[in-house]
Amino acid sequence: MWKIGAHVSAAGGIENAITNAASIGANAFALFVKSQKKWSSPPLTDFNITSFKAKLVEHGYNPRYILPHGSYLINLGNPDAEKRRKSYDCFLDDLRRCESLGLVLYNFHPGSSVGQATTEESISLIAESINKAHCATNTIVTVLENMAGMKNTIGGDFNHLAGIIELVNNKTRVGVCLDTCHMFAAGYDLRTKEGWVADFDQQVGLSYLRGMHLNDSKTEFNSKRDRHQNIGLGHIGMQGFHHILNDVRFQDIPLILETPHPEALEAVTASVNTVVKPLSDKAESRKSAKKPTKKGKKKAKGVSDLNYGEA
Ligand SMILES: [Zn+2]
Ligand SMILES: [Zn+2]
Repeated sequence: MWKIGAHVSAAGGIENAITNAASIGANAFALFVKSQKKWSSPPLTDFNITSFKAKLVEHGYNPRYILPHGSYLINLGNPDAEKRRKSYDCFLDDLRRCESLGLVLYNFHPGSSVGQATTEESISLIAESINKAHCATNTIVTVLENMAGMKNTIGGDFNHLAGIIELVNNKTRVGVCLDTCHMFAAGYDLRTKEGWVADFDQQVGLSYLRGMHLNDSKTEFNSKRDRHQNIGLGHIGMQGFHHILNDVRFQDIPLILETPHPEALEAVTASVNTVVKPLSDKAESRKSAKKPTKKGKKKAKGVSDLNYGEA
């Protein structure tokens, strides 16, 4: 079964994320478990937790297909001990929030050397924090996101992800989320299956793949810049997404759109209505995988725009 959705807003209470996801027909979704731009946020209330869990059941969402996204401030690869401690506290707080909500996955950006350490040093600092956090929590799976390959950033190269995983003690609690825009920007050619799937499987292993962010790219191949575009409107183009949505290896993990415009939501709904059907309907789904139009710039309600721009 294909699990497709969007990053939805949790404004006004984390339980609202579920209603927002259900309203766009998503059978998977992403959310922030606290403000992604603040070091600390008020704790979740008992009401938040109870309502969140009740709505999950009401709308039939399996936590396996919910992919919370970590705070943007976290940098576990920072060699400055004090700054890294602050990041770790924020990271651990996110993980504990996820566990209290009954969630099983947590997606985050590995970090950056900030130009003050080697890639290898940052990789080992990131792994050290993950190991420490695994001991301080119970079940949550920490999911590393690949990055666009910007200067000092860890995670643009599949080997960075493999290097972190190698140093994590509990391999059952570490995974990878591949963002298509980031891969393309980092130099993996998403336009063909040959451009990346075998490389990823060889260097990291498809068994670690716990989710994907489906974003097109505003910038050209190998640009090292992180600029999301709606699916079909960027430099990757529809064919890059078509091969993902026709390969059973990408079934059964959350596939999340991070672009908010109506045409992207049409693509979500079209995907859910067509591709989500059993594979016997595959031929039918091909016919309806039409290219979204360029019309419509209005932001869709309840869906977050995750275009980070350039840091
Ligand atoms: Zn991300
Ligand atoms: Zn991005």
